[in-house]
Amino acid sequence: MKTLPFLIASALVLLSANQSAFGQTDANTKYKGIAIYIDYPDVPASVTPARLDSLINGLAYQEEGAARSFRKYWYEQSRRNIDFTHDIFFYPAPQPSTYYESITWQEGILLWKDALEWIIAQNPNFDWRSLSVTDDRFDKPSKGGLASVMVISSKWGPKGVGASHGPNWTLSNGVKVTTIYGSVLKSPWDTTPVNLFMTLHESAHGIFGFPDTYDTDDGAAHSGGTGFYSLMSGGLPDVEPIGGPFLAQYRWGMTVEPQSGTTTVTLRADGDSMVVLRNPYDPHEYFTIEARKKSNNGNSLFPAALGLLIWHTDSKVFTSNRLSDMTPLKHYRNSIEQADGRFELERSATNRGNIGDLYLPGRSFTPDSKPDTKWWDGRASGINITDIQFSGTDHMRFTISVPEPGIRLPEIPQTEWRLVSAPPSQTGYQGFKAFDGKLSTYYHVPWGNVSPRPHEMVIDLGQEYQINEFYYTANTNTVAPWEGRVADYKVYLSVDGTSWGTPVSSGTFFYTELTQYSLFANSQGRYLKFECINSWLGDGSQADMRTSIAEINLRGSKLPSGIMDSATVGYGLTLYPNPVNDVLNIQTSGLKESVAGIYNLNGKLLINKTIAGSAGIDVSGLPAGFYVAKIKTDAHIEIRKFIKN
Ligand SMILES: [Zn+2]
Repeated sequence: MKTLPFLIASALVLLSANQSAFGQTDANTKYKGIAIYIDYPDVPASVTPARLDSLINGLAYQEEGAARSFRKYWYEQSRRNIDFTHDIFFYPAPQPSTYYESITWQEGILLWKDALEWIIAQNPNFDWRSLSVTDDRFDKPSKGGLASVMVISSKWGPKGVGASHGPNWTLSNGVKVTTIYGSVLKSPWDTTPVNLFMTLHESAHGIFGFPDTYDTDDGAAHSGGTGFYSLMSGGLPDVEPIGGPFLAQYRWGMTVEPQSGTTTVTLRADGDSMVVLRNPYDPHEYFTIEARKKSNNGNSLFPAALGLLIWHTDSKVFTSNRLSDMTPLKHYRNSIEQADGRFELERSATNRGNIGDLYLPGRSFTPDSKPDTKWWDGRASGINITDIQFSGTDHMRFTISVPEPGIRLPEIPQTEWRLVSAPPSQTGYQGFKAFDGKLSTYYHVPWGNVSPRPHEMVIDLGQEYQINEFYYTANTNTVAPWEGRVADYKVYLSVDGTSWGTPVSSGTFFYTELTQYSLFANSQGRYLKFECINSWLGDGSQADMRTSIAEINLRGSKLPSGIMDSATVGYGLTLYPNPVNDVLNIQTSGLKESVAGIYNLNGKLLINKTIAGSAGIDVSGLPAGFYVAKIKTDAHIEIRKFIKN
């Protein structure tokens, strides 16, 4: 028997989102969107409004293929921070679904605009101001549009409806629509397992700005992204958790961030806590450690009953997981450190994850393991994750040791800087805007630049410094004129502004508006030359003729060269306590005999002592203040700052 269409033409069913409270009342951040069910004349809706409301807004909803409602998923994944509901409308499409399948998505997406106009006309009392606008979005500047328009269809409609789109419509009632995400629930719903994957995935783009973690290379499915470990990978028969890096990014749940020392941590599987270990020289790069268990309740693909998953995130990588080369410049934005060292998620077209990816008892993640704990630029993190154990059936216990980071010199004040030379600038985008302390202003060569490459900016810092770090921030524009984000670069320092020698730093920056850091050996200089060899085009090539600089800066010190000249930014040395009252303990790993010197900030040597391994130095006689300890062996010098109380 043919199922009767649920709705007759032009009938409207509006359901208020289920407002009953959760078991816990801490879902403080509320989002409300519009869900539109497209009811085609040739494929009529077969789902009842009550069932659709239950799927989207219900709290206890479960049926085959869907372990939870849309609302419950975001409530659970956000660790009870988010309550995300939709008001639901059924819209009778004027054309059969076959018509919409025959046109482009740019044409077809207008169906959704028609639906919104129809809702306006049919519901003069509907409160459009109750809907969330993009101001609520965590990571993007406001555009003031409706944050969430969910389109559900009984059949694929316009091509490409599975994606988030930014149509930038203004509706007849003045409401702006900047994001649309679509999904499809096939008819008849009753006989097809319901899979909320696409709706959840697209809403994660639309509302939270999460990037894809599948490999987004055009058509070439040569690698698996993060496989079935994240909602943002996708297309699989179960809906997966979003993944630790996204929880950490939005502070959903609690992050434990050990700064240095040794800590034993117990994490509950799929719980509220995770460990984040950040690169001390680049906050955009970090490891996230989460415990997970296999569960029929939305984690059925997890390849072990219980295990640790270690993510490596580098948010300088623009948007998605397109780059699977695993090189310093071409790697995923979010990758899984795969414990067996096979990296099948990057190297295999078919692997979407297996038990070898997990950190289970007997495995460890250290500077010597494979994979190792290096940062993407090859610098050692010195991090050790060891003694991994099961703790009951729900928890994982492990030990983390994090070395004390080396001394980071202060930012050199830009107020004393003076522009010596730079290529001509676009009107209003003068050279000094590269060092005015404001990310919102920037230097830019003329829009239609003809100055030959490389473009060199020379700055007088006002006085001489010992310098070991340079950083660059590109402009933040995502529409033209965004061009001119520097790719290949060289940095020179000079004491006299004429002899430059070899570059102190060179390499390739990422195409990102995030600040990027370049560390180098301590070098002396009063003059900085930033040589911009080429810039990124939006297509990923380095062919742009333009250069722009929102901000450059340096870290350095006026400390006398006797202290600083050959220091390395090192690891394996711990000073404690800091601040210290009387005895400063120096713990070294691997340094046999060394000389410890204590200096004041003027570079005067106050205490000199030969130590072997670990030792205590009596500093009780020193006046309160800042001091520098220099630990020196034949091959190695380490510098640490400390405070005497
Ligand atoms: Zn996506």
